[in-house]
Amino acid sequence: MDYILEVKDLYKSYKDIKAVNGISFSVKRGSLFAFLGPNGAGKSTTINIITTLLDRDKGEVILNGKTNDTYFREKIGVVFQDNVLDDLLTVKQNLILRGSLYLNNKAAVHKRYEELKSFLNLEEFEHQPFGKLSGGQKRRTEIARALFANPELLLMDEPTTGLDPETRQTVWKVIDELRKRDGLTIFLTTHYMEEAVGADHVVIIDKGLIKVQGTPAALKDQYSHDRLVIVPHDKKAFEASLQKENIVYKKIADQFVIKVDETDEMFRLLDTYRKNIKSFEAIKGTMDDVFINVIGEVNGNV
Ligand code: ADP
Ligand code: MG
Repeated sequence: MDYILEVKDLYKSYKDIKAVNGISFSVKRGSLFAFLGPNGAGKSTTINIITTLLDRDKGEVILNGKTNDTYFREKIGVVFQDNVLDDLLTVKQNLILRGSLYLNNKAAVHKRYEELKSFLNLEEFEHQPFGKLSGGQKRRTEIARALFANPELLLMDEPTTGLDPETRQTVWKVIDELRKRDGLTIFLTTHYMEEAVGADHVVIIDKGLIKVQGTPAALKDQYSHDRLVIVPHDKKAFEASLQKENIVYKKIADQFVIKVDETDEMFRLLDTYRKNIKSFEAIKGTMDDVFINVIGEVNGNV
């Protein structure tokens, strides 16, 4: 198997906080790799170590079989959790300035700027100060900065956190295009579980440790379930029959939420209780369920 990045037995503590406490994983070339976890899980610490900004206490990080820092800085682009460009400079000034740190040929810098400008649609605001842009325009500019040196691996630390839904979609469109067009390997962290559905591989981290990893489909298979939500006409009778059948359910207001493993079982329940069903809804298991079941957070789901 062709892995672009391998992390082996990585540790990092800040005094007595074990931010990263012995994690190992591999990222396939050309894949979308999602690193999920709640606040404080150790995501940014891991990213900062991979990008060589932070020293590790122990462990190995291997990029294309290599381990030297200079090589990492050449091959990796990073979109940081917080924007890093200069508020007072325009989009173009910011990117040309950053670009000249990566490429030492003025013509090449301008050529690359033009490419990124058209790819990320920066035209309408290229002469505005970065500080005056909307959240989405800022993110697009930050992505352009990260892509300037044509990285093989793009690390994005919570690229969509705090953005409105429309802007989140814009960022996702860019991510999709980068994968399809350039076959770029993308490593992103997020705490929006549903964003991980399209990933090739998902790692869930909590308190510095990997809890589970796998494809979204495999994780959903194992840690989520479909549900049937029924509002009966006669609650008492309905509850009594569920109990008689030994069916596991949860009552929320006038709704009965029943875990269902097979579609056939859904049809059977609907058939059996048809006369007593006022309304119903079938709900597919989600990545949110996976997260709740793995991390143990409760937010009203069964
Ligand atoms: P995440 O990005 O998943 O939210 P972080 O990697 O930022 O998590 O943080 C992991 C843990 O390390 C948290 O408990 C956080 O408070 C702690 N931490 C992070 N950076 C520092 C630092 N520079 N000094 C002390 N503690 C830190
Ligand atoms: Mg973070």
